Amino acid sequence: MIYDAIIIGRGPAGLSCAIYTTRGNLKTLVIGKTDSMLFKADKIENYYGFEHPIGGKELFETGEKQALRLGAEIKEDEVVGIEKTDNFKVICVNGEYEAKTVLLATGAPVVKAPVRKLDQFEGNGVSYCTTCDGFFYRNKKVGVLGYTDYAVHEALELMAFTSDITLYTNGMPLNISDKHKDSLSKLRISENKIKELDGQDKIEWVVFEDGSRESIEGLFVAYGSASSTSFALKMGIATEGKSIKVNDKMETNIPGLFAAGDCTGTFKQIAVAVGQGAIASRQMIEWVRKKR
Ligand SMILES: Cc1cc2nc3c(=O)[nH]c(=O)nc-3n(C[C@H](O)[C@H](O)[C@H](O)COP(=O)(O)OP(=O)(O)OC[C@H]3O[C@@H](n4cnc5c(N)ncnc54)[C@H](O)[C@@H]3O)c2cc1C
Repeated sequence: MIYDAIIIGRGPAGLSCAIYTTRGNLKTLVIGKTDSMLFKADKIENYYGFEHPIGGKELFETGEKQALRLGAEIKEDEVVGIEKTDNFKVICVNGEYEAKTVLLATGAPVVKAPVRKLDQFEGNGVSYCTTCDGFFYRNKKVGVLGYTDYAVHEALELMAFTSDITLYTNGMPLNISDKHKDSLSKLRISENKIKELDGQDKIEWVVFEDGSRESIEGLFVAYGSASSTSFALKMGIATEGKSIKVNDKMETNIPGLFAAGDCTGTFKQIAVAVGQGAIASRQMIEWVRKKR
């Protein structure tokens, strides 16, 4: 089954967009985890329509119920990849879905992996994109920095180029779904806490806090969840710093792919996210009608 619209993100931007797309008769799937920034907001008193402060969790729950009542389908899942086909293929931890148009509403980019000298080796052995750079590491000894399904997904993509892959969790306990548990046997796992990276011009070593070190030729970062920035790197979506670049219609440089909310790097507020979600929905409805 092909959805008309897939919305990645269950925060104000994504749910606002879903409210409009479902009312615009688009078969809409919203995918996200339950970790919108709203959950961090104890009391909100600057969002229109509430005489008294409302809790972020309550606002989230009400918005989600509203989108569900209007016909949106909502799945609790994590997106690990998006591929451009004739439509868009959205790859999640627990399944794959296809849609004619996609909205990125993944919130502000996640914090960087806490490893010293990671920045220093970016472009010199440290990469954030297996699709872009995997080819340069054919038969080489590489690592993936991460501990979640996203990291395992990236490691499996790298297997097309090399079988010498170590998953460096940096002391974090593995947090992998059943789907990926079997795949772990194809990888070497290091759960040592990393002190820093080392090398001359390029990355050569992973240095651990216990004083030991391992040689390495490339390190792919897939720490935590895939963020809008990770999708941007893989798909060639234009960015401005860490934010997705959009025009005033919330269009990215990829036709049919839109972005809204904190991931666009604007004024990080609920009213803005909701407004951008609404603007994107109009373009998505128009896009699907043209395709029909
Ligand atoms: C402490 C705090 C207090 C705040 N107080 C206020 C306030 O008083 N007023 C106000 O207007 N704003 C406030 N904000 C800001 C507001 O919460 C954000 O601007 C707003 O939530 C942004 O909405 P969003 O939909 O863009 O992103 P988010 O709400 O962050 O939602 C992002 C969604 O994307 C999903 N996602 C991310 N990556 C993936 C992936 N790989 N796969 C699947 N899903 C993914 C997440 O699970 C989440 O559902 C506050 C923020 C914080 C942190």
